[in-house]
Amino acid sequence: MTGFVLFGSILLVLLITIIWAAIRAGEDTGASLGAAERRDAAIEALRDLELEYRTGKLREEEYATLRARLERTAIDARDAAARRGTRGPAPEPAEPAASSPSCPECAAPLAGGEAFCPTCGIGLRPDA
Ligand SMILES: [Zn+2]
Repeated sequence: MTGFVLFGSILLVLLITIIWAAIRAGEDTGASLGAAERRDAAIEALRDLELEYRTGKLREEEYATLRARLERTAIDARDAAARRGTRGPAPEPAEPAASSPSCPECAAPLAGGEAFCPTCGIGLRPDA
């Protein structure tokens, strides 16, 4: 029985260390640890926490506090990972060369919306 309690204490210390690492990683730059790794670590710690609570090694208020922190860490990390994921293939923000208008007569670059080309003076609006 003493051995079991000792083992439980060691587990608890280990768990708190993991949680601290997860929280510190969440507060850190995020460059050292990947967002996905942080999320996984937090989820893992949550699972351990739940187990500790179910086996009666944690008081309810301890469990609630730690769980809230871990959940926040997991959510933050997940959001960070999602942001990085969508940024991946870099959706080009409308190629400026293709979309910027040019004069059909002299090919001078136009700001768009001019009634006449400022270079050659041709009418740019067929309805004008
Ligand atoms: Zn022109």
